[in-house]
Amino acid sequence: MNNNWWIHVLVAAIASVLIVGFIKVAGAQGADILISIVLIIIGILFHFIPSIIAVHRNHKNKVGILLLNFFLGWTLFGWVGSLIWAVLQDADREKEKNGIRNVHESDEKECPYCAEKIKNKAKVCRFCNNSLS
Ligand SMILES: [Zn+2]
Repeated sequence: MNNNWWIHVLVAAIASVLIVGFIKVAGAQGADILISIVLIIIGILFHFIPSIIAVHRNHKNKVGILLLNFFLGWTLFGWVGSLIWAVLQDADREKEKNGIRNVHESDEKECPYCAEKIKNKAKVCRFCNNSLS
């Protein structure tokens, strides 16, 4: 189905050759620099995970999340806060997308065994312990 797999192999091979070549030319110090660069890139990527999530999901407050992530992301509070914001508001958006249906439809159903109200997602009834799957 995917005929482009060899491009990835090719890119990986070229990248490997370049990295190995770089280390051989630049020596041990070069390897240290390379590792530092890789660590910095990973660090930056990790730092901007909330922004990446927000942009990827087209979050309605993505600008706010980006700003919070950018200015306070280096603090644990700012990072966790923007991450939670990026994920939480998205759940609201999902509800909005489902619209009126979600307003009228409750998230509960009736257990077929004991007729008690239980959650739609329940796999086991919390009243009679019967399996619903
Ligand atoms: Zn039941």
